[in-house]
Amino acid sequence: MEKLEIINLYGKDVVVNVRIAKARTYKVSIAYGHLYVTRTERYSLNEIRDFLLRLLNEKKVEKLHSELFVTDSYIDILGQRKRLVNLSKGQVRTSSDDFVVINDKDLEKKLKSLTKDIVTSRVRHFEQLMNIPEHTVKITNMRAALGKNYYLKRLITIDKNVIHFSLEEIDALVIHELAHYYQHNHSKDFYNIILTYCPNYRKIIKKLIYGERV
Ligand SMILES: [Zn+2]
Repeated sequence: MEKLEIINLYGKDVVVNVRIAKARTYKVSIAYGHLYVTRTERYSLNEIRDFLLRLLNEKKVEKLHSELFVTDSYIDILGQRKRLVNLSKGQVRTSSDDFVVINDKDLEKKLKSLTKDIVTSRVRHFEQLMNIPEHTVKITNMRAALGKNYYLKRLITIDKNVIHFSLEEIDALVIHELAHYYQHNHSKDFYNIILTYCPNYRKIIKKLIYGERV
């Protein structure tokens, strides 16, 4: 079970994804400026708030650009905020730039296929450039993990939320996962491969983690 909560920390509203997991754990990570909390049992927001305040200082929270990717009125697509028009909610298209969906299910479907198309085309592009054979691409809900290369299966999984960020950020993530074809670790050699194809990698990936919009 996963739920989006808005929790105020040091006077700032932050987005917190809370997931109840079966394994005994109480874990926090950061991606896209959102906090990801995994814990075992039911919780109260106050308890999670206290836990986060103990763990994160004000400076760290200040860095988070915690905004929702999708609300009733907008949707972020490739780092651009578009007006979301959901026809089932009586909303009306006013510009050709609006993101129009029939209903919530249609929104989910459209986002999924758009993400798959874009990520796959970026993977193909960099496979050629980096001289790497074709990988299967899967888009899943990875929460804070962003991506993973299952090199034994020649499979790359990418988190579904990357679609809300710029192509530059998606490319940085794709290059990271493809570089694991050559290096199955995060060594200096690994980062040297990444930096060959993405010289600003560290800056870009920080933007993705802290959720900065361009
Ligand atoms: Zn990695």
